[in-house]
Amino acid sequence: MSKNKSSESVKVVVRCRPLSRKEESNGPAGGIVQMDLRLGQVILRNPRAPPSEPQKTFTFDAVYDSSSKQRDLYDESVRPLIDSVLAGFNGTIFAYGQTGTGKTYTMQGLWLDPEKQGVIPNAFDHIFTHISRSQSDKQYLVRASYLEIYLEEIRDLLDPNHGNTRGLELRESPETGVYVQDLTSCVCKSIKEIEEVMNVGNQARAVGATDMNEHSSRSHALFLITVECSQPGPDGRKHIRVGRLNLVDLAGSERQAKTGVQGDRLKEAAKINLSLSALGNVISALADGRSSHVPYRDSKLTRLLQDSLGGNAKTVMVATLGPAPQHYDETLTTLRYANRAKNIQNQPRVNEDPKDALLREFQKEIARLRAQLNHRRFRSKQKKEQVDGEAWERDGDEEEEEVEEEEVGKEAEEFVKLEEQRLEKENEAIREDQFLLAEEKQKLLGENEKMMGDLRKRQEATEQLTARYKAMESKLLVGGKNIIDHTNEQQKMLEIKRQEIAEQTRREREMQQQMLIQDEEAVELRETFTSLQQEVEAKTKKLKKLYAKLQCTKAEIKDVNDEHVRSRQELEQTQNELTRELKFKYLIIENFIPPEEKNKIMNRLMFDPDEDEWKFKPLVPDESKSSQMKKRPVSAVGYKRPISQYARVALSMGTHSRYRAENIMLLELDMTPPNTSALTDGEQNQSPTLNNSPTNDTGICKSRSWYQSQKSITSSSSNNSLAGCQTATPAVAM
Ligand code: ADP
Ligand code: MG
Repeated sequence: MSKNKSSESVKVVVRCRPLSRKEESNGPAGGIVQMDLRLGQVILRNPRAPPSEPQKTFTFDAVYDSSSKQRDLYDESVRPLIDSVLAGFNGTIFAYGQTGTGKTYTMQGLWLDPEKQGVIPNAFDHIFTHISRSQSDKQYLVRASYLEIYLEEIRDLLDPNHGNTRGLELRESPETGVYVQDLTSCVCKSIKEIEEVMNVGNQARAVGATDMNEHSSRSHALFLITVECSQPGPDGRKHIRVGRLNLVDLAGSERQAKTGVQGDRLKEAAKINLSLSALGNVISALADGRSSHVPYRDSKLTRLLQDSLGGNAKTVMVATLGPAPQHYDETLTTLRYANRAKNIQNQPRVNEDPKDALLREFQKEIARLRAQLNHRRFRSKQKKEQVDGEAWERDGDEEEEEVEEEEVGKEAEEFVKLEEQRLEKENEAIREDQFLLAEEKQKLLGENEKMMGDLRKRQEATEQLTARYKAMESKLLVGGKNIIDHTNEQQKMLEIKRQEIAEQTRREREMQQQMLIQDEEAVELRETFTSLQQEVEAKTKKLKKLYAKLQCTKAEIKDVNDEHVRSRQELEQTQNELTRELKFKYLIIENFIPPEEKNKIMNRLMFDPDEDEWKFKPLVPDESKSSQMKKRPVSAVGYKRPISQYARVALSMGTHSRYRAENIMLLELDMTPPNTSALTDGEQNQSPTLNNSPTNDTGICKSRSWYQSQKSITSSSSNNSLAGCQTATPAVAM
């Protein structure tokens, strides 16, 4: 990565928490982490290795041991970043480490104890104190949002029904970079308000946590603060700078156990790990400097942090460690990650006058409201003068205008009062006037009533406008007032001194680190040897030192290789499991789904890259849904429907074609048909003949001979193919 003038590296600090009571009682061995605060070094001991093996040393921008105070970490490592945000830079702080190592403790801390408040509450304090102490020509607008990423879905924690809606979408604009669409953003005017926002979000998180076991260690939480500041520049115009601060509490970095996990659970585990492994890949790609492709798009988290890693932002990473020996592997991995992240170069710049600054819109709106109020005030004054001279007459044209924009100010109020009194008096006069007809009186009174109503309406609208104006104005914080008044000078001095000390410590450490490097390089140059013996000694010493270093590096290479192999094996295992599942699905498809169905489904499938899943294309394109009804096929000429071969033969040969070849003659069964008519009709129908038509019966339908039915069938079969079928089933009752 090219180091241009404005680029700076990601600051990495490491913090180790104290041994917990459980860990203390568990093992006899103490912590495996040692820290050199002066040099900013972490020394890690491998509990499984023989004592002769050299310990691993890592150097960082700062390290904080188990006795470190929240305040120290803030003053030394975070304060400069927040100052940059207030000056219009983008800033990010993220805590990274295994679950239970103190990420949440570092970011949030214990709210009730001022000594143990974490980075976030300290940042609130810092931001609002800074605003209250800045000059009065500055205007500020502070906004806050809170979201979490769980299972690759972005959830708005400030939205009351975030649990029911789908995850939010990420969008990208050339102005602001990647942002979350439709994310709730609350304007905050004081520390109390922003704390309230935080609490609301935390509660939403806690509710989610009870639904899902170990929720917090599987979701990433991002608290976003936007500080807009407007200040008159040398050209006399107001310039706006926008600083965005991301406070990130990541999910636990430990590997989710993969053994025995299958199907949906496997996918879930893969998704939980996805963000973190994507983050790891992004850090590696950036730190490497040689790879041209940085896989930001692999996960939501890396896309959101795109600016913070290798982009327009200043970034501080707090890597948290636990000192317990049983977590040696995880601790080492965290340290390696952190070590790699040191090499990332960012290009922070001040965001000056961005187009989407909300402050600019607010200022415009306030100016518009003020102009409206002033305008109405002026007009009301004019009117008052008019009314003083002559009787006030309603003006139809003006009315509409007046309903929406109304007078304010004392003069206006006075005017309204006077007007009301005048109308009252007029009413009295009308009532007392004996020369007027009752009808006319009513009419005049009605008119006056209407005027009074208008007047009141106007006054209400005025009050609304004033309230809107005041609400709008109160959102903007003016430097030097609004918030807690100035703390006394002494306290201010104290804080400044503390900052200076923190600054001093930081610089001292930097110098120490540099000296260490230079020492090693320059030792040779400085030394002049008086005798050969001395030279040999010195060189031997150096050789020993270098040899130890070589061994260290070799061990490091071996370690890295081992880890590489391990993670590769894990990936292979996941791949195998996925392949097995895929094969299983294929097997089902091959054996149980007809190929044409499969083809139909395959043709309809398409991949939606936004949602990251396969979807069905709609059967009918949306635009032509109405005109797409399928037509029924037309029948063949002469037939209503296509008919079967048998029916066609039967048609051409007459009925009983089936028996004709065998020369079988079909004879009627000699059966006396039931005759109920005999009972009713008497002698006439005593012996019924075969020719009796069934339709003649008045009562029960009698069974017919095959012969009889033949006639009726042949006559009907010319136009009904079903008749052909009927011929195949003898003895059909009609
Ligand atoms: P994580 O968020 O990384 O999972 P937590 O912040 O919840 O871990 O910390 C786990 C426990 O350790 C908490 O009870 C917390 O109070 C404690 N703890 C973490 N860091 C420190 C520290 N530096 N000093 C004292 N207690 C700590
Ligand atoms: Mg946590």
